[in-house]
Amino acid sequence: MGERPTVLVIGAGIGGLTAALAVARAGFDIVICERAAELSELGAGIQVSPNAGRVLAELGLDEAIEAAAIEPQAIDVMSGVSGSRITSLPVGAFRSRYGFPYRVIHRADLQSILAAAVRKASDITLLLGTTVEAVLAREGDSFVRLKGPRGEMVQAAAVIGADGVWSSTREQIPGAPGPAPTGRTAWRTVIPRDNVPDGVPANRVGLWLGPHAHLVHYPIAGGAAVNVVAIVEETWDKPGWNARGDYRRIAERFNHWPSEVKAILAAPQGWQKWALTAVDPAGSWVSGNTALLGDAAHAMVPFLAQGAAMAIEDAAVLADSLRASPSDVPAALAAYEAARKPRVAKVWNAAKKTGEHYHMDGTLARLRDVALGLLGPRLVLAQNDWIYRWRPDDHGD
Ligand SMILES: Cc1cc2nc3c(=O)[nH]c(=O)nc-3n(C[C@H](O)[C@H](O)[C@H](O)COP(=O)(O)OP(=O)(O)OC[C@H]3O[C@@H](n4cnc5c(N)ncnc54)[C@H](O)[C@@H]3O)c2cc1C
Repeated sequence: MGERPTVLVIGAGIGGLTAALAVARAGFDIVICERAAELSELGAGIQVSPNAGRVLAELGLDEAIEAAAIEPQAIDVMSGVSGSRITSLPVGAFRSRYGFPYRVIHRADLQSILAAAVRKASDITLLLGTTVEAVLAREGDSFVRLKGPRGEMVQAAAVIGADGVWSSTREQIPGAPGPAPTGRTAWRTVIPRDNVPDGVPANRVGLWLGPHAHLVHYPIAGGAAVNVVAIVEETWDKPGWNARGDYRRIAERFNHWPSEVKAILAAPQGWQKWALTAVDPAGSWVSGNTALLGDAAHAMVPFLAQGAAMAIEDAAVLADSLRASPSDVPAALAAYEAARKPRVAKVWNAAKKTGEHYHMDGTLARLRDVALGLLGPRLVLAQNDWIYRWRPDDHGD
């Protein structure tokens, strides 16, 4: 091992790439191994909230993200029953309220920005088409056997499993919980701007709430496309990220919804669907010099759009913990887990509760809509101040 200890990051998703950038700045050499032969995020959008944007800005990525992202003015919360507007949340005010904006971006654009920064960093090696075969711990270090074009053994002071909801690094950690189905599926598509039905605004997010389902749409790719996600309650739970969804099934499911929603669903496009799977954050994330990060540790339902944001926050705290205790990696990783758990658990539970509110039916749904109207947009947004105000040096919530 050279002067700088090596950290092996398993997985080059948003969590792994951000962790590599942050931990390299803390004085470590990084090897990232990604089993996919090339980096290709899903053809879908992602919301980047101020707490995540703040971490990415500290990594020097704000300008690139600003150029690729859209800053919507508002989230229009709509009734999937009556078609009327329940409230409109002025997220355009996030920049002045939290110091960082609320943005929406194509996942592939965010991944490219992170990957470009990784490729530029001389202390980070990205190995694509490379799967971790075994992790053997000995005398404080891990010896990780890789299977890939450069099949080799890497000696690492720390191993970070950023390998997603189906993580196999988890097997190294006694007490780490496995993935559990949530009884919901997400259907996604991207509509090229020319096919977007009239009336869908170019710089606003639409959030439609109905019985046992909801639908979100927002502009991505500089306004050249609209990202659509429909979440429905169903028990299908095949693992994986890109099963084809049959348009007839989703059209049937939203048959009684307002005409605007049906028009969005009918715009010609292919659908992908996947089962929403959660990982309880209460389990163990760390054992010795191995730690989990992002979805591997705490995959959550996407109703607060915080899954990737939590992975990005994890990366910042992990880097701070390793910087503070570079020669005692197990202590640094234990500090990371202790610092992150309460906040992630709070966000995880809040996301779950938000899903229950979104999918209410009958009288409960009408009461929800009245309450949202009475509270008013500013108070509704203020309920999430604790999520968006977070700074890397907070470590708590
Ligand atoms: C419908 C939906 C909408 C969402 N919207 C938002 C949003 O708006 N905002 C937000 O913040 N979050 C959102 N999320 C959550 C977000 O997508 C995830 O939390 C985030 O992508 C997790 O990133 P990750 O890096 O932890 O894992 P992943 O993105 O799953 O990356 C894991 C990587 O590890 C690799 N890998 C796995 N095993 C191995 C191995 N053995 N060896 C090598 N490589 C391996 C995989 O190939 C993959 O590239 C949403 C989620 C869903 C389902």
